[in-house]
Amino acid sequence: MDFELTDEQRLLADTVRDFVDERVLPVAIENDINHHLDRSLIDGMAELGLLGVVIPEEYGGAGLDFVCEAIACEEIERGEAAFRTLISVHVGLNSLSLLRYASEEQKERWLVPQARGEKLACFGLTEPAAGSDVAAMRTTARREGDTYVLNGSKNWISYASVADHALVFAKTDPAAKHKGISAFVLERGMPGFTSADEEHKLGIWAGSTGELFFEDVEVPAENLVGEEGQGFEIAMYGLDQGRFTVAAGACGVIRACLERSVAYARERETFGQPIGKYQFVQDMIAEMVLGYETSKLLVMQAAWLKNEGQRNTRETSLAKWHATESAFRAAHLAIQVHGSYGYAAEYGIERYFRNARAPIIYEGTTQIHKMMQAEHALGYRNLNGRGGDISPMAAWGPALASR
Ligand SMILES: Cc1cc2nc3c(=O)[nH]c(=O)nc-3n(C[C@H](O)[C@H](O)[C@H](O)COP(=O)(O)OP(=O)(O)OC[C@H]3O[C@@H](n4cnc5c(N)ncnc54)[C@H](O)[C@@H]3O)c2cc1C
Repeated sequence: MDFELTDEQRLLADTVRDFVDERVLPVAIENDINHHLDRSLIDGMAELGLLGVVIPEEYGGAGLDFVCEAIACEEIERGEAAFRTLISVHVGLNSLSLLRYASEEQKERWLVPQARGEKLACFGLTEPAAGSDVAAMRTTARREGDTYVLNGSKNWISYASVADHALVFAKTDPAAKHKGISAFVLERGMPGFTSADEEHKLGIWAGSTGELFFEDVEVPAENLVGEEGQGFEIAMYGLDQGRFTVAAGACGVIRACLERSVAYARERETFGQPIGKYQFVQDMIAEMVLGYETSKLLVMQAAWLKNEGQRNTRETSLAKWHATESAFRAAHLAIQVHGSYGYAAEYGIERYFRNARAPIIYEGTTQIHKMMQAEHALGYRNLNGRGGDISPMAAWGPALASR
């Protein structure tokens, strides 16, 4: 077992950390308070290759591995969740789905400019009446000659009003439930395709979340990704990729909270000594250490499976559940370590707390991940497909799942 980082992985970590320290963190609190999406920082991420970090070079990407993708997400979210969210939807949910399911012509048209960072992409699955229950979606795509006519709407879509391309899911056969869902690429500017921002939300103020509306949008049949009826499979594959980036980013939140709390606890004095000397404060620091390292180990286990080309739905789900809950807990503890200063916007600790809340909801709520883990353990379903292979470290898994 090798926990060492390669020179390439170490270089990426250093480069992205410097980018965050020099460009993201100095303006993070101001951008958050002003609800400002800083496009210059997205340009900076594109220059570093982060918008195509794990996409092969032949499709315009950086061609790095999944450990690198995890490192990039951790470093970026240590600075600002809004930009890790962009990697999640643009690279994880959208581009990696295109890499797997799109035709060569479609890859050339949409994946290549996305991987180069020339075009931004989002992922439109959720609807007002369909979140966890994807098959309840009401958006329809009716075939008419060489086009599909889309009607319906999506909400809570990250980067909805910014993205040039959207991977959108719609029912081509409503009676067939999840087997009647198909995936399409929609381009900004198509007649009848509009978007709007969600105005008031708890966190990720420096990012973008919005709605997509489809009113008789005529989408050329060549924009269908995969086969008709394959949309649910594509969405679930995309979620395996997106969830991984969410989990990796959550490690960055925990690390930020830990780093800031350790520095503060050494410096802040009460009753004549640094608060770090008190066991109650040490208890909070220790919990952050545990949350960071267990989350990171789960992320790296999933990264290893991805690099090996093995199905990793179970491991990615576990990492996402644990890391996002640990991040929210760490942010809560970091506020406590900082006392009233942790509660103040200008210290930037409460920003981590607000931003760490949404990842417990999106890309599968904690309850959905618990259900997935329990159903796998009980043998009610194999999360990693028919073979049911899981990480070799989880020796108990196959025995329980086969009952
Ligand atoms: C900031 C933000 C960004 C987002 N970005 C995107 C995006 O880019 N693209 C996209 O498509 N979506 C996005 N979403 C939507 C997100 O994926 C959904 O909100 C999520 O899947 C949950 O769906 P829901 O909100 O409809 O809640 P529901 O599914 O209605 O769930 C409500 C509650 O019921 C629980 N519950 C539901 N079903 C079960 C069950 N079977 N067993 C136990 N408990 C259950 C849930 O855990 C939750 O507590 C985003 C959401 C947020 C907040």
